[in-house]
Amino acid sequence: MILLNDFARQWRETGDEVLRCVAAVGESGWYILGNEVRCFEAALAALWGREFAVGVASGLDAIEISLAALGCARGDAVLTTPLSAFATTLAIVKLGAVPVFADTDDRGLLDLEVCRAALRDHPEIRFLVPVHLYGHALDRHKLEGLRQEFGCRIVEDCAQSVAARHDGVPAGCAGHAAATSFYPTKNLGALGDGGAILTSDPELAAAARALRDYGQTAKYRHDYVGYNSRLDELHAAVLARVYLPRLERWTARRRAIAAAYQAGISNPALRLPGAPSGSASVWHLFPVLVTSGSKAAFREHLAAAGIASGEHYPALIPEQNAMRGVPFRIFGSLTRAARIAASEVSLPIHPYLDDSEVTQVIETCNRWVA
Ligand SMILES: *Cc1c(COP(=O)(O)O)cnc(C)c1O
Repeated sequence: MILLNDFARQWRETGDEVLRCVAAVGESGWYILGNEVRCFEAALAALWGREFAVGVASGLDAIEISLAALGCARGDAVLTTPLSAFATTLAIVKLGAVPVFADTDDRGLLDLEVCRAALRDHPEIRFLVPVHLYGHALDRHKLEGLRQEFGCRIVEDCAQSVAARHDGVPAGCAGHAAATSFYPTKNLGALGDGGAILTSDPELAAAARALRDYGQTAKYRHDYVGYNSRLDELHAAVLARVYLPRLERWTARRRAIAAAYQAGISNPALRLPGAPSGSASVWHLFPVLVTSGSKAAFREHLAAAGIASGEHYPALIPEQNAMRGVPFRIFGSLTRAARIAASEVSLPIHPYLDDSEVTQVIETCNRWVA
């Protein structure tokens, strides 16, 4: 079976090093918010070209805490995409804020021109949560333009785009804060949950540090109603010492596989959206759009050949049951996002996929008759 993620292979290569980290943290006798978290935060901030990284418990919390630190509260309208992990919207909803969904472009990325129209027509929208989906980087010039023109506060969801760049600059540097996730399947995944907030604003970083730790600003001094959302020493050690040093090589492998798919898959029933212009993408996922025939049939064809596939995402967020009774708004229509939801299939793309498996995926795609 060709898997979407092959953690057994990853463990075979990295397991010994991970176990040494477990021993080091165990022997240190310090398990929460210590040296390992500080070192990892420094390394991540350097990689990202931001002043500060704040480790938290998940990508979801990274978005929610960033928004809270920027003053987002009950009733505030937050512009975002209907096509993402549910967590993007959940972070907004948990604050009592109101998501406003805007359509995507025809590759499934939040359409920043539509965002511009929404912000122009609705000056009450003060927050924007764009998602650098699939490992692509959104246009940073357009994001910076929205920030300047409308003064909106931007939290960039970079859960799928660690190390992606737009026009040479890391995704997540156009807004006030970037939020990322170390969920195991992500490009920089831990052996469990984790996340981080990236920013160059010292006040925002300080607020995020307090919020992740019960709103504590000094020992037993609580200035905010905070969270328990801390990155563990253990995960920080594994991320900093074992996985972060491999990220460049892993990203290069993802890019090579994406290039091979793009060069090799020629079935006219499949459309490969490719990277948007200016984006040095990191290919967290490799989406193909089934343009004739059904995506269920295509997925069955892949499965019959022993190839796992995914859907990102099969339903728009405002259509989820959890959104019933939750206030939200839709700006314009979500036609393009709905088309992606109906036709997108994700092919296996991970650093441990070998060349013969890549060839197998290409040939299986090309053999499919819609
Ligand atoms: C994974 C993901 C999240 C949530 O991250 P968790 O660490 O699982 O909470 C948020 N947004 C996007 C786009 C994601 O892919």
